[in-house]
Amino acid sequence: MNRPLVIGNWKMNLDYVEAVHLVQQIGVVLRNKPLEHVDLVVVPPFVDIRSVTSVVESERVSITVGAQHASVHEAGAHTGEVSVPMLQRLGVSWILVGHSERRAMYAMTDEVVAQTLRTVTRFGLTAVLCVGEELSVRESGDQDDFVTAQLHAALGGLDEASRGLVTIAYEPVWAIGTGLTASTGQVREMTEHIRTVAASLSLDGVRVLYGGSVNAENAAALMSEGRVDGFLVGGASLKAESFLAIGQAANDCYDGKR
Ligand code: PEP
Repeated sequence: MNRPLVIGNWKMNLDYVEAVHLVQQIGVVLRNKPLEHVDLVVVPPFVDIRSVTSVVESERVSITVGAQHASVHEAGAHTGEVSVPMLQRLGVSWILVGHSERRAMYAMTDEVVAQTLRTVTRFGLTAVLCVGEELSVRESGDQDDFVTAQLHAALGGLDEASRGLVTIAYEPVWAIGTGLTASTGQVREMTEHIRTVAASLSLDGVRVLYGGSVNAENAAALMSEGRVDGFLVGGASLKAESFLAIGQAANDCYDGKR
């Protein structure tokens, strides 16, 4: 089992004042009760990142900071986009690549996902590649082939240095923000499938996370029975209490307490 990783994707929620407040709350709880066996990452909106990293540094909060997206381009005439070097300069070390909301609502194709992932890793940041099927695909039983194709498109031909900078998040689209969580059996099967495909692409031992309506109640079972290396959490990451309860479940599972 890899050391667990729990990432909170705040999506387009929390302005910079609210973001600072949440990180301070997380810091207070972690100071009293550190989570020694889990890596915690928060992924705020771009405009909050500087404020969040300042609090993390000045108050020594044991979390790292990520970004929800980055431009495939390094610089230039790309109005509205934010580049990987800009994010790196802000202290960002993780970038979500190909979140299903980017794929569905902002026309992020498999090709752009692959190129973005290469831009992220070229600068030495870790790319959290998001994959997962829509409900119709799951209903027709084609989820393995669908996810295989996404993995091949994004990771095929990746150089060795970049391969060490990839984490994969399995996020069935039908479970994101819906309250419908994949069963532990579904998560386990897909996690095993992803590990097999990743190994065939020379990404042995890659961390595989699950995302899709994870909360304080279901995290422990998803972790131990679903055999994941952690979570990508949306809604439940907006409150310190629920985010850290998920972190605690991952921590205890790794520590053999569950
Ligand atoms: C997500 O945004 O990646 C996600 C999994 O959201 P939620 O936890 O709200 O389903």
